[in-house]
Amino acid sequence: MEGCIFCRILAGEIPAELLFEDDNVVAFRDINPQAPVHFLVVSREHIASALEPGARDGGLLASVFNAVARVSEAEDIASSGVRVVTNAGRAAGQEVPHLHFHVLGGRMMSWPPG
Ligand code: 5GP
Ligand code: ZN
Repeated sequence: MEGCIFCRILAGEIPAELLFEDDNVVAFRDINPQAPVHFLVVSREHIASALEPGARDGGLLASVFNAVARVSEAEDIASSGVRVVTNAGRAAGQEVPHLHFHVLGGRMMSWPPG
């Protein structure tokens, strides 16, 4: 989608440190990390959020959680634990309207999130 920052990263127009990719998703480091390890798993397709029908596709979700596990292992945060978060909509603080899952690790997490 024109003007979407994650679509531009997927198109190679904006650089990002790629950590994983398959037919459905790409994972790259967050530009403003909130933990020692903070990466994003992003759908290749422009889907606005987890509330959109396209986000319910089983193949896409399998790819998302495969990427979460693979990259967490590679980044050495799988054994200590990770936080997986997707913000959907304004009240949740979603800034980029393109489906993505935050994966954070390398420190203790508090609950509930703010
Ligand atoms: P949201 O608030 O939509 O859940 O999260 C958007 C995330 O995208 C934020 O954590 C922000 O730091 C990250 N982000 C925004 N622009 C860029 C960018 O150009 N490159 C990368 N790697 N991350 C970005
Ligand atoms: Zn997009």
